[in-house]
Amino acid sequence: MTDERGILFILSGPSGVGKGTVRKELFNQETDLRYSISMTTRGMRPGEKEGIDYFFKSNEEFEHLIEQNELLEYAQYVNNYYGTPREYVEQTLADGRDVFLEIEVQGAMQVKKNFAEGVFIFLVPPTLEDLRERIVNRGTESSDLVTNRLGEAKKEIEMMDEYDYIVVNDDVDKAVHKIQSIIESEHCKRERVAKQYKQLLEGKK
Ligand code: 5GP
Repeated sequence: MTDERGILFILSGPSGVGKGTVRKELFNQETDLRYSISMTTRGMRPGEKEGIDYFFKSNEEFEHLIEQNELLEYAQYVNNYYGTPREYVEQTLADGRDVFLEIEVQGAMQVKKNFAEGVFIFLVPPTLEDLRERIVNRGTESSDLVTNRLGEAKKEIEMMDEYDYIVVNDDVDKAVHKIQSIIESEHCKRERVAKQYKQLLEGKK
């Protein structure tokens, strides 16, 4: 028995945490997930391919997509646009397949507004554990650096409240395994499965 509609998974997290690496490793392994390839205005890096890594667009093309409401979310990151194509996501979910987005935090918050039923996963750096200790032991260190890092940690911790799951990226394989477990658990959720059992018992299936 499977869900009729696919589940939307959103992987996000602070800049530099390794979202791309974790996502690539997740997709290197056998998966039923569909990755939503983003649009971007940034230049192609060596080894990247059009339609595999991104759909590479000019600024004008991207702004046209925004005007036409063709993006589920978009954000500017380091002077470039990044965005998720709406139709691919909606169609794939309607076909009963899970969709996986790997996007930065502003975009993830836009998705949350429009797709509250999505499953939001926040990837955090392993050093957060250290930072947490520093917060607990506040007062023992007083350099500007620690203050800055605490400020950053605080912002990151506050952002966690918006997410359903937190995955520490201490090791790529472990992080991937945790994400796979989250996906499996989401498919076992009573509210997702019970509806189909009810339909079955009512003779509608
Ligand atoms: P990069 O240029 O290194 O491939 O990606 C830069 C950042 O953009 C990463 O944090 C990545 O997760 C994010 N990103 C990639 N695609 C999208 C997208 O479609 N929307 C948003 N909001 N961020 C994206």
